[in-house]
Parts: sequence; C-alpha cells; structure tokens
Amino acid sequence: MVRWLALLFLLMAAPAWAEAKPDLVLTGQVRGADHQTYKPVTFDVPDGVIRLTVEVDYARDQKTVVDLGLLDPVRFRGWSGGNKKRFTVSAEDATPSYLPGPLPAGRWTLLLGVPNARPGSAAAYEAKITFERRPGAVGFAPGPLKAAPGWYRGDLHMHTAHSDGSCLAQSGVRAPCPVYRTVEAAKARGLDFIAITDHNTTSHYEAMAELQPAFDQLLLIPGREITTFQGHANVFGPTAFIDFRLGDPSVPDIRALQGAVAAAGGLFSINHPSSPSGEQCMGCGWTVPGTDYDQVQSIEVANGGSQRAQGGVEGPLFGVPFWEARLKAGHRITAVGGSDNHDAGLAPDTPGAVGRPTTVVHAAELSTAGILAGIRAGRVFIDLDGTRDRMLDLSARSKSGQAMMGGVLIAKPDETVAFTASLTGGERAGLEVIRDGTRLPVAVGPSGAFTVKMGDKASWVRLNLRDAGGRLLLIGNPIYLRVGR
Ligand SMILES: [Zn+2]
Ligand SMILES: [Zn+2]
Repeated sequence: MVRWLALLFLLMAAPAWAEAKPDLVLTGQVRGADHQTYKPVTFDVPDGVIRLTVEVDYARDQKTVVDLGLLDPVRFRGWSGGNKKRFTVSAEDATPSYLPGPLPAGRWTLLLGVPNARPGSAAAYEAKITFERRPGAVGFAPGPLKAAPGWYRGDLHMHTAHSDGSCLAQSGVRAPCPVYRTVEAAKARGLDFIAITDHNTTSHYEAMAELQPAFDQLLLIPGREITTFQGHANVFGPTAFIDFRLGDPSVPDIRALQGAVAAAGGLFSINHPSSPSGEQCMGCGWTVPGTDYDQVQSIEVANGGSQRAQGGVEGPLFGVPFWEARLKAGHRITAVGGSDNHDAGLAPDTPGAVGRPTTVVHAAELSTAGILAGIRAGRVFIDLDGTRDRMLDLSARSKSGQAMMGGVLIAKPDETVAFTASLTGGERAGLEVIRDGTRLPVAVGPSGAFTVKMGDKASWVRLNLRDAGGRLLLIGNPIYLRVGR
C-alpha cells in the first residue's frame, strides 16, 4: 500500500523537466530468473549533460516488483527502492534518495533490484532517460502550482544557513537557520512564491528540491545573491553555478557576469543599490563600473534590512532614486522589493521579516518561468507592509493603443493620454502620480481616472500610494510613453 501510494504521488508530481522527449529509451524484461537479484541496465551519458532524469515503468500484472538505484561511472548515486518512478540528478540538487554532484560522461548503471519475479514470468520494463544540456529557469516544482493568470505575492530576497541566515535553536542560542524555517515563515505569511538567495552558493537548492513537493502552494524559485566586492545582484532561475568572482580572470568585468546570467536564462536584479560601500559596508552599494543596464531586468528599490536600519522606507538607503535615474536614462527596468531576511523567526510586522516587503507580480501562471516573465514584463508593485490584500494597477490608453503597468504606450505629441489607476486596500487620495521621477499636480478621479499630456519626448508615468500620515505603502511600476509621429 505504501509503495502504491508513493508511486501514485510521484506520478501526480511529474516534474516539468521530465516531460521533454527522452534521449534514451531502454527496454527489456524482468524474468523469473531475475528473482532476488540486482539487474544492471547500462547506458552512456555524453559530455556536457547538466541534469539527468530517469523515469521507469514496468508491467506489474504477474506480481513482479522492481526497485531502482543509480550508479555513475565512479560512484553510487542513490537508491529509491520502489518509492519513486521518476527521479533527477544534477550538480546542485537531486530527488531525495539520490545524490547531487557532477555528471561524468561515460557508462552509467540503472540498477533494477528484483524483490519478486515469479518462476517463468516475464515483465517488460521501459526506462526513459532525459539529458538536459542547457540551463533554464525551471525550478523545483512539478509544473505550475497554479495554472491561472493572476497576481502573485512573494519575497525575492532571503538568506538561510547556506549563507548568513540564523535563527533561534531549541535552547534559545542563535544557530544557522535551516531552509525549512524560511519556507514555513513564508507559508504562514500567505505568500505565493519565494526566492531563497544565499550568497554566491548553490548549496541551498538541494533543500529546496526536497521541500517543494511538500509545499505545493508556495513556489520555491531558485535564487542566489551574486555578492561581489562592488555590489550585490540577485540572479533568479538557473541552478547551475555562475562564477561570481568579478575581477578574477574568469570574470574580468560585469558584462562577462551579466552575459553568463543571460546565457543561463537567469534574471539579473540589482540589490540595495544605495547601500553604503567601502569599510562601512563592503560591497553593499552598487558601484560596479560598466554595468549594462539593458541586461538588468529589475532593481530592488525597497530592502527590508535597509528599512530596519534607517527606521523607515525612505532615507539615504532607499533604492527608488537609483532606479528612477536608470529609467530617466531610457532603460526599462522593473522595481522589486526584498526582505533580505536573515532570520526566519523575525516577528512578521518587522521590516525585513519574511514577506516584508512583498513584491506582487502579475503572471500568466504560478511557476518559476511565469513569475520571472511577469517581473520582466513589469506589471509589478511593491507592498511595503507585506499585506495580503493591497492591490495597485495602472492602465493607459492613447488613440493608437493601450498598455498595462510595465508596458509601452505610443502616443502623438499633442495627445492627452488617459490613465486609470486601480487600487484596493488604501485611500485613493493617497495616490501620487509620478512622471520621470517628479510628482505631478494631478488628482486621481473617483473612478481612478487621470490624464497626462504626451509632449514631444519619451517619458514614464507611475504611481505611489501613501497613507494619511505620508508614509509610503505601495510603489508602482511605470507605463512607458513613447512618441509616435
Ligand atoms: Zn546584499
Ligand atoms: Zn542579501
């Protein structure tokens, strides 16, 4: 029964990366003579494989039972007995029962253990083996956690025992904080997704791969905080190692690093750009020369740790001025937030607690690829208090078309562009209309409507929401206005 339940569960949780067409299909028969033996099925793995996925099925009608294990050319890679029909191994993570690590080219062995095969029986088996050669933003989830388009709330910046995250141990002393505590905290806050972004390492992915099936309503996005001596940037999506040693011959400049991230299908997001640098905070502010802002998809404009340090969102550490300066230079970059949590046990109402701030992303589905595409598209706002219900959206219409927040709208210079703000969980009177970094003396009408004269040059318009006391609650992303002739 347990065996069957386990199989059923794994059939349901078929990972997206296993749906690709297999590179090898190995077939054969388990016969009565194989009873209580280990049957090696060998196959060759070529050079350059970064993930190997195995899926095995066999005929059960004669009470034949097959257990599974795996050996690479050098060592034992794991044993899942009869509890998994499908498993994956890569350098960074593997299905529980299996060991992550390098995938050496050469002869591998799929081990079929046969606890039972009746005398004279013959049960056909089929093993599909898929090689992944190119990294991609796939994640650990068995396909989308939710297939519907919608607004999804998450935290894009957090640390665990795999870097400098700590929390209270049983006795009350401080201890390196295991990944599950962060995941539990995110679940308790009602988040839809989190990216765990330990510094430079990829060692947390193994724990995330283990946790994802048990947290099937909380998407765990592979992340890491590329931590250089001149700035920090989160990379979301890929799991393979990305060389962070900026200035080393292996990564001579930031463009080499950004190119490696792009080649791996990753999203490059500059963190806490306005933090101090030098001996005050080594490498914290973004001071990297030669940054290609066309290869920067997002900037963390609100950082929970900075908020705690300066006693509020706005102050010298606030990232919005840095971000808006890049927008004014003509770049299209999405503003995001991140708690930069280093203690999963931090009280939920504390800035820098898991989910504070929250980044809210409109995505086609709740999957790693979906959330990252949503961030790139820019229909995103930051909920600084990490509420579960505040909503902000923006649309605009000209004679030639319409656009949503994050999008581009083309209008003629003499046109008046009609905007509509959509707000839930706040007072409309607290909405600020910001164009090219300056607040416009424009009131948002009862239906959320306001207008802006196009003018003869490109610009951008976005919203903030403040409470009656002037405290910033929500930060919206722009609609980009481009001149049509
Ligand atoms: Zn950092
Ligand atoms: Zn950090």
